[in-house]
Amino acid sequence: MGRQALIILLAAIMSVGTAEPSAAQGKGGGKSGKPAPAQSQENYEQLGQVPVGLLAVFPTGARCSEVASPFGSPVRFDGSPRVNDHFGFHNGMDIAAKEGTPLLSIAGGDVIHSGEGGLLVGNYVWLRYAPNDTGLPVYLFARYQHLDKPSPLKIGARVTLGEIVGPVGKTGTIGPYFGPAGFSHLHLLVFAGDGPDFTIRDAVVEASVYRRYLDPLAVFMKPTTTFDNHVLSTLPDSEKRIAIPYQTADGRREPADTKMVWPIACARS
Ligand SMILES: [Zn+2]
Repeated sequence: MGRQALIILLAAIMSVGTAEPSAAQGKGGGKSGKPAPAQSQENYEQLGQVPVGLLAVFPTGARCSEVASPFGSPVRFDGSPRVNDHFGFHNGMDIAAKEGTPLLSIAGGDVIHSGEGGLLVGNYVWLRYAPNDTGLPVYLFARYQHLDKPSPLKIGARVTLGEIVGPVGKTGTIGPYFGPAGFSHLHLLVFAGDGPDFTIRDAVVEASVYRRYLDPLAVFMKPTTTFDNHVLSTLPDSEKRIAIPYQTADGRREPADTKMVWPIACARS
């Protein structure tokens, strides 16, 4: 192959590699765009799909729905290997709960997207949490998925801390990936971003500025933490134990002045 032909070939490969389908932009909403292009495992790792190893620690006297499968786990709650389009990596956190259990907004926020995502996603709703809502130095974009029924929340609505965002369910979990019975649980997916703007691609909301995956347990950490999975993964084990703030079914919070709560109400024993 001549030098000129090689250059043309390389240019063609590079243009394919960087081609991006159009997608909706938005601050308060937007139309669904085309599916995201396939990404390499390296891309996903750069975006924060790396095991972090955070551990939820519930206060003494609280009975909470616990983590069934943490962020980064290569296996499901039942030990079966994960099969997905991002190299078997668990990109969120699972909390098992009965169908119909109310899911609570982890902070005050804005409803930015919702829909029915089919297999693997099910009914879902996206909330955006601003630094003013959380006290954290980043914007959070959180998808609550597998809801039993579509979320009652309207796009553009404000939600308050601990407000119900929808019922736990198993939509999107029935079929070849989870088995015929499905698995009733919340899969909470969290992206961090350095600004409020976002793009919607089907069932996915992408922060426009420095989008990265976040271990959902990180949102319960102290505000001084760097919200980057690559940094969080290097913390000593003692700093990976995260004290979880929560709300009870009658709306009391622990600690009382918390800006964040566990997405399912805890009971006090
Ligand atoms: Zn999951």
